Amino acid sequence: MRLDRIVYLDHAATSWPKPPVVAEAMVRALTEAGGNPGRGAHELALAASRAILEARGALAALVGVRDTRDLVFTPGCTYGMNLVLHGSLRPGDRVVVSGMEHNAVVRPLTMLAKGGVEVVVVAPDAEGHIDPDDVEAAVRERMTTAVVCQHASNVTGSIQPIGDLADIAHERGAVLLVDGAQGAGHLELDVTALGADAYAFSGHKGLLGPQGVGALYLAGSFEPDELIRGGSGGHSGRPEQPTVRPDRYESGTLNTPGIAALGAAATFLAEHGAAIRAEERRLTRMLHEGLLELPGLRVLGPPPSEHRVPVVSVTSDRMTADEIAFALERTAGIAVRAGLHCAPWAHAAVGTAETGTVRFSLGYGTTEPHVETTLAAMRELLA
Ligand code: PMP
Repeated sequence: MRLDRIVYLDHAATSWPKPPVVAEAMVRALTEAGGNPGRGAHELALAASRAILEARGALAALVGVRDTRDLVFTPGCTYGMNLVLHGSLRPGDRVVVSGMEHNAVVRPLTMLAKGGVEVVVVAPDAEGHIDPDDVEAAVRERMTTAVVCQHASNVTGSIQPIGDLADIAHERGAVLLVDGAQGAGHLELDVTALGADAYAFSGHKGLLGPQGVGALYLAGSFEPDELIRGGSGGHSGRPEQPTVRPDRYESGTLNTPGIAALGAAATFLAEHGAAIRAEERRLTRMLHEGLLELPGLRVLGPPPSEHRVPVVSVTSDRMTADEIAFALERTAGIAVRAGLHCAPWAHAAVGTAETGTVRFSLGYGTTEPHVETTLAAMRELLA
């Protein structure tokens, strides 16, 4: 396989390639900081602790977390959403949730609903947007514990009105829990200003880190229970889980190489993020406008004039999503994803539950020739 020939348009699943500094940081952590972070006072253990401290600082600065203790490292966004949902919702609680959510939210909530949590789903419009007025009406109906919403959709690219939802939730004493998998890295982000009580990050998508690592911002006033308990490197004589942050939420040996690499990616994005986002936006619009000109295609989500994350999903009346994805790779080396993208609610809401979609998702490393190649290949396929 010639890697330089791949037209990689599957950034919403995982970003590739990564900036070289990310792999370098990972190797450095493995070779030069190989002790156990927070456990032991020898040189290698201290080096590992330092690597984590630096990564936490770099990521916190990038995403607007003021107190680094409020930023917890996790294995990914799925873990983060499970932590906040299972850690804060109890039988009798009521949750208002967007109808665009990923299974990282749908499945824990389905489980919690079986245990007596009331789940109220707010339907999006045809473009995949959640209307804050609908959320407000649902929240006002009855005492509500939490509002749960993604920052952006991995199916339609729609960006949700998180700031408005924070105001609506807080006015009624509810918390706002945000799935930021598709937002972080692709949108300029200040989680504190946004007003979210929790914001779950995927490290391996727009943040350009490796797989198996993510982070979770927890506002100082929000104290969900921890999801797992165990060694935290301190207070070892006590059988109870510590209550201090971030230790409370970081039981077990952390993924030091992954976290160090995510920290390097955050530092890289602090310098280059604005330029990367501007290019993503330009190329996404170019792809979107080009796709709209092709015969028999339905392009999901908001129009090209509106800001979206770099995700464009289509269906065709001539070929199935799988056929298109397979043909794109075979004929032009284009890597895309076909199917439901782990988001059955979103597909049901926009009318693609039966067909799924072909999803083109752009990111760091996507070029104008990639978009041109893709449009030419699609034109040929649909001719
Ligand atoms: N939420 C959304 C909206 C996503 O797109 C994804 C990744 N497909 C996830 C959650 C899961 O993220 P992670 O792989 O970091 O667990």
